[in-house]
Amino acid sequence: MAAQMKTLEDYVLLAAESHGHMCPGQILGIRMAMLGLRSIGIDDPVKARKRLLTFVEIDRCATDAVSLVTGCRLGKRSLKFLDYGKVAATFVNLETGRAVRVAARDDARAKAKAMFPAIADASQAQLEAYKVMETADLFDLQAVRVKLGPEDLPGRPHSRVTCAQCGEGVNNGRERRLGDRILCRSCAGERYYESVTGGEEDSGVRSQDSGKTERQESGG
Ligand SMILES: [Zn+2]
Ligand SMILES: [Zn+2]
Repeated sequence: MAAQMKTLEDYVLLAAESHGHMCPGQILGIRMAMLGLRSIGIDDPVKARKRLLTFVEIDRCATDAVSLVTGCRLGKRSLKFLDYGKVAATFVNLETGRAVRVAARDDARAKAKAMFPAIADASQAQLEAYKVMETADLFDLQAVRVKLGPEDLPGRPHSRVTCAQCGEGVNNGRERRLGDRILCRSCAGERYYESVTGGEEDSGVRSQDSGKTERQESGG
């Protein structure tokens, strides 16, 4: 018989260890992933890891938990990060094409806070509530379809080209074509950073907009 998905309690222990602390966001992430996987017919994420793709829409605590439960990781190309600022994730069964998007309900927070008035610490009260609240009170779930090309799937790079301007290699069709030139996204005008090593003496102290490169985690 196939192995099963772990229990919420098991995931809570594992998540606390790998994320460094336990927090309400991770309970949401764990339950979100468990719900999403079951909804696309995956009971054993370890066994199903090659036919599973997850899109996360926020870079916060919940995302670490989603990654833990699904086994989907950025470095394996099975976890896709879309910076939409929403506690939501989409789970895709690559074998069947079935996909669901699970979004945390905004009113879940208020409901959670009202559940355990005896717990003085607000975050702790929220955390305990998220463990026991009804799924429908926590999440909205919708069946979706996600268009995926071969360049989006895990595995070896589908293609690789060299940017005509900076000379850096670009994988999987992420290049831009301007006229007959093949450019990386940065050289095509989508650069998210500015070089600071130009003409002037570079003290190396000036860190420009460190928030861009070093995202600080704020817990919860
Ligand atoms: Zn370039
Ligand atoms: Zn956290």
